[in-house]
Amino acid sequence: MSTFSDLGLKEPINKALRDLGYEKPTVIQEKAIPQIISSSDDLKAFAQTGTGKTAAFSLPIIELADETSTATQAIILSPTRELAVQIGRNIEEFSKYLPNLKVVTVYGGSNIDQQIRQLKRGAQIVVGTPGRTVDLIKRRALKLNTVKWLVLDEADEMLNMGFKDELDKVLEATPDTKQTLLFSATFPREVESIARNYMSNPVEVTSGQKNQGSDNVSHESYFVTERNRYQALKRIADVNPNIYAIVFCRTRRETQEVADKLIQDGYNADSLHGDLSQGQRDSVMEKFRKKNIQMLVATDVAARGLDVNSLTHVINHKLPDQIENYNHRSGRTGRAGNKGVSIALVNRKEKGKLRPIERILKKKFVDKEIPTGEEICKKQLFHLIDKVENTEINTTKIDAFLPSIYEKLEEFSREELIKKFVSLEFNSFLSYYENAPDLNNMPSRDRDDRRSGGRMSNENMSRFFINLGRKDKLNPAKLMGLINEQGIDKNVEIGAIDILDTFSFFEIDKNFESQTLDAFASNNSDFNGRRVNVEITKERKGGRRSGGSGGGRRRGDSPNRGFGRSRNNDKFQGKKNNNRKFDRRSK
Ligand code: AMP
Repeated sequence: MSTFSDLGLKEPINKALRDLGYEKPTVIQEKAIPQIISSSDDLKAFAQTGTGKTAAFSLPIIELADETSTATQAIILSPTRELAVQIGRNIEEFSKYLPNLKVVTVYGGSNIDQQIRQLKRGAQIVVGTPGRTVDLIKRRALKLNTVKWLVLDEADEMLNMGFKDELDKVLEATPDTKQTLLFSATFPREVESIARNYMSNPVEVTSGQKNQGSDNVSHESYFVTERNRYQALKRIADVNPNIYAIVFCRTRRETQEVADKLIQDGYNADSLHGDLSQGQRDSVMEKFRKKNIQMLVATDVAARGLDVNSLTHVINHKLPDQIENYNHRSGRTGRAGNKGVSIALVNRKEKGKLRPIERILKKKFVDKEIPTGEEICKKQLFHLIDKVENTEINTTKIDAFLPSIYEKLEEFSREELIKKFVSLEFNSFLSYYENAPDLNNMPSRDRDDRRSGGRMSNENMSRFFINLGRKDKLNPAKLMGLINEQGIDKNVEIGAIDILDTFSFFEIDKNFESQTLDAFASNNSDFNGRRVNVEITKERKGGRRSGGSGGGRRRGDSPNRGFGRSRNNDKFQGKKNNNRKFDRRSK
């Protein structure tokens, strides 16, 4: 079979699919659509996100729904608000030439009275998150006794998120005669038990091997230490100038910290996690969809509802606690026929998690080296040249200025001009990565990591007192900025930072002790109107270690330094909120 009409769908639906640019059914659609249309048997479908599963369950329901009745005929449950909205939107698009077919989407965090009013008007299809659906059933605003189809989308995720009781309640509210369609990317024990308890002899369809990753995704692992995990992330971003990625973190705090650091370093990044308000989340997702954000740092749950097909990378800043979730994460890339790369940053302890993941994926991770400064510079240079090659010339606007430009540049040869403009764009890059260490060969890295949580060990550090504290609005980032401004050696390691109320402490590689003291003394710097005074301390004083990032740092990694700053000025790498699309012309 090769077209949607071959699958038994009526012309108004086919027309809507043509409008959407759907030419051929995907594997799961080819298998599930005729099955659901022709049989009332329950269905268990193994489908990753991105395989076209929404259309696989929605289209046969739209095909079979009775438009002449406004009773609820289908209830579709999805784990997150975003996914529910996406499904509702898809169903509206698929049914746009069926004017009497109505869909209502219900979810928490939004006005329930309005949803009740919409339900009262009648809708054949209701899409909902489990909690709100149960709430509406209890209020008798949603009646499921006429339901013919129950869809459990991303069943594994709903159970992961603790919706077992809600699923049970919804299942109880639906008649035994309904057809249950269960879609899941993985089938852990809990999902199997739902299938066993609530479905009778389900037909199984799959869009590939059960639980197996997409063929379009390659998997790479980078060996990191806590000290260089963030630097490795930056280098991966730098060596992929067109990166469009989700960076997955395990906790909200880790998500916020990584995003903050990337933003400070001038990357086009933002965070998405449960501590943000719904409005903030919507706005971040919108920016990411529009590609105004290149790297979205997110928790697993927050990223569920994102329907983005063109991600180049998924980066596991930390691997998920449950290894099955790796599959979910990596399935965000390699969608809709595109190729994608899923990257795992792993330290020595985490390396052990790779094997079980490989067993699930039935694929091997390719061990990769963290890119060196030289590789990154080369990649960025040719990216720049490609951009120049593909830039369209705006003759009408430029022509008027050309005579005086030619006159000014007349003394330079072609070669000199090329060198000059490359240097103009590229010098900051070169200087940032000049002498950058090879992160793959850091000495005794794990021993240091374990002892100091990623910092250099104390005996290699000198501890300094500085006469500024929280009252002066000093924070770790600002203190690092201040240290950087002193012109101490570029690769100097900065250790623990303790910010107290009226003064603070910081550690610096012992080898740079006198250089640091001299630099502060001779620069006579001011900070928020106060003269800065730095002295060496011999013993470690009390005080909470401050600063979110915790790890040791090199000067070049601090805010407003080197590449970080250059990217802020870079014409295609706008800051967080500049709403400028990043340049993908040279793809
Ligand atoms: P889903 O797995 O339902 O999240 O779908 C992933 C993406 O593929 C969505 O953006 C769909 O719009 C798109 N899609 C689904 N089916 C097709 C198809 N047959 N042809 C082209 N795109 C599709």
